[in-house]
Amino acid sequence: MQIVETNTALKEVVRRARGVGQTIGFVPTMGYLHEGHLSLMRRARLDNDLVVASIFVNPTQFGPKEDLEAYPRNAQRDMDLMKAEKVDLAFFPSVEELYPPGYTTFVEMEGLMTRVLCGTSRPIHFRGVATIVAKLFNLVCPDRAYFGQKDAQQVAVIRQMVRDLDFDLEVVVCSTVREADGLAMSSRNAYLTPEQRADAVVISQSLTEVQEQIGRGERNAATIIKMMTERINSKPEAAIDYIAVVDAQTLGQVETLKGEIIIAVAVQFGKSRLIDNIQIKV
Ligand code: AMP
Repeated sequence: MQIVETNTALKEVVRRARGVGQTIGFVPTMGYLHEGHLSLMRRARLDNDLVVASIFVNPTQFGPKEDLEAYPRNAQRDMDLMKAEKVDLAFFPSVEELYPPGYTTFVEMEGLMTRVLCGTSRPIHFRGVATIVAKLFNLVCPDRAYFGQKDAQQVAVIRQMVRDLDFDLEVVVCSTVREADGLAMSSRNAYLTPEQRADAVVISQSLTEVQEQIGRGERNAATIIKMMTERINSKPEAAIDYIAVVDAQTLGQVETLKGEIIIAVAVQFGKSRLIDNIQIKV
């Protein structure tokens, strides 16, 4: 596995691969890798000649009171894991490499998509995500880019940006990888105390329960939200940020369940803000 830290070195590898007709699969991450990230790399390995994965904790997607400094990092372990997944190229840039002094251009989206759900409590988050992903797409020129369903709003935002800005690539979405008890894997699970970790399973449990209710015919979004709220609030350390039922493409609120929908939830457990969702065709 080759490790590169500069845009110039990355572009050189990409240029050579393209020159011999190789397809490129790209997995952007913020590191502190877990099985969720690795599942994207495995899928990229199956689909492409050259697999590029990036590790970059992107400062522009963190708000001033968020966990940028505390975000867990372990570069050596990440490199070992990527190597084991047969990633060809690890891109590991510094902040200055991607945002040099004088940097001024950002990708900002109009409409509700970046303002609802996580966008309400994280108003600059998706501007940072869209900007860094656009920059990385321009550097890596992938044929396919891999994202996790765990970040369903991010998937909707990236898909919209790819359409709007004519990126010539396929967005591949991979299922959420979970711990044995159902908790969605996340680098932020590392902040949980043992008690919080045990209680955090309530998030995925609440989603499974409402999925069963929908299977039995429940179609009212307000009823679903109420059930989940009660279930999650049964854990004293859980502070719900949002629970929402939205259309899977537009992320617009849904009152009666119909078509492709996402039930999305964000809950603060101590220092960790955890998100999860399920996508259902009704
Ligand atoms: P992050 O490092 O959190 O920015 O995540 C990098 C990529 O991994 C994103 O596309 C995430 O959606 C994806 N990802 C994170 N956690 C999971 C998970 N538990 N299952 C599947 N994909 C995930």
